[in-house]
Amino acid sequence: MRRKLIVGNWKMNGSLAANAELLQRLRAGAGQAPGVDLAVCASAPYLAQLQALLSGSGIDWGAQDVSTHESGAYTGEVSAAMLRDFGCRYVIVGHSERRQYHGESDDAVALKAQRALAAGITPIVCVGETGKDREAGRTEFVVKRQLSAVIHAVGHCTSEIVVAYEPVWAIGTGHTATPEQAQAVHAVLRTQLRAATPGAERIRILYGGSMNPANAADLLAQPDIDGGLIGGASLDAAQFLSIAAAC
Ligand code: 13P
Repeated sequence: MRRKLIVGNWKMNGSLAANAELLQRLRAGAGQAPGVDLAVCASAPYLAQLQALLSGSGIDWGAQDVSTHESGAYTGEVSAAMLRDFGCRYVIVGHSERRQYHGESDDAVALKAQRALAAGITPIVCVGETGKDREAGRTEFVVKRQLSAVIHAVGHCTSEIVVAYEPVWAIGTGHTATPEQAQAVHAVLRTQLRAATPGAERIRILYGGSMNPANAADLLAQPDIDGGLIGGASLDAAQFLSIAAAC
């Protein structure tokens, strides 16, 4: 069976002092959820801090984005090899905030996933429809298109990725998808992965979008929901750990 994975996406939040306190609480509490994999993804300047404070804790860490380029004259970009240097196990690629505010295309996201894998880092590939897409009955079409670009780019490495279904309308809004709504999309993604790789049963498909201690257990009980990608609630150690304990 797939081990559940709970990942905190801190987004553009944190400071050296606040992170130190949060990480200390996470380290102290991680034992409450022994059967669950935990990770936090911070902004690039804090990766060294994560490496220093989480090494040996059993909690993994990662970044929130990676360059499509390997190295060179790309001012401001952070390469997969650099993330590797700082011990990142994961990198989020294709978060809707990057697709929306930074114009990331399906192809760019696929290339980022490829760069991560080549550096030995697991990409957490985000897919998800907007509220408008859902109203228009385009949910399945959109998420399959987004995932398909990645599958084509990474080929036989597809079984090494993590997928995160994050309906855009549920992110930061308090409007969580119902367990049934989320499971329906996860099942579609699982079917698509089965057609792409014999390793599909190993792939963890996380749900993200206003997940919190009150709704986590019902979402995580669904057969194809293998964990969570947590935004707001990951900034509070007690909430994050309580989501993990709901697995
Ligand atoms: P919230 O949990 O704040 O809705 O954010 C979800 C998310 O975008 C995680 O990547």
